Amino acid sequence: MVTTLAALEAARGVRPAGYVDAILAAGRVDADGVRHHIRAEDLAAIRARFGVAEPPLPGLGAMARSAAGAVGRVVGAVAAGAAVLVPAEEAARREAICRKCDRFRVSDARCSLCGCVMPGAIGKWHLAAERCPHTPPRW
Ligand code: SF4
Repeated sequence: MVTTLAALEAARGVRPAGYVDAILAAGRVDADGVRHHIRAEDLAAIRARFGVAEPPLPGLGAMARSAAGAVGRVVGAVAAGAAVLVPAEEAARREAICRKCDRFRVSDARCSLCGCVMPGAIGKWHLAAERCPHTPPRW
């Protein structure tokens, strides 16, 4: 499992005391000092020890509808000549909100409501037409 040190630090405020430190101790950090790697079984053991459960993903049908909707909105934006991506500051704002959200899955950086992948060049944090699926939306 790969995440970033920044994401782990952001999780300190929403996870039990000692949880993030246990993950840091059980994994390793890349030479660039940005990414943290941990074996899935080690992460699962730490989660069990601290009683931290990831919210489950929605069903395949719901995820397929989310993905199809996102593709359609990107195609629509391109056809309309609208911006496809948000500025980096907006992506960072969305990420900060998600990282503190109880519906965010730390293990795979996905939203448990829509199942969407959030980071990356075409992740939901970066796409201009995407919205938080929470009611009310959190971003
Ligand atoms: S998109 Fe919304 S519901 Fe999903 S993790 Fe982010 S803030 Fe939470």
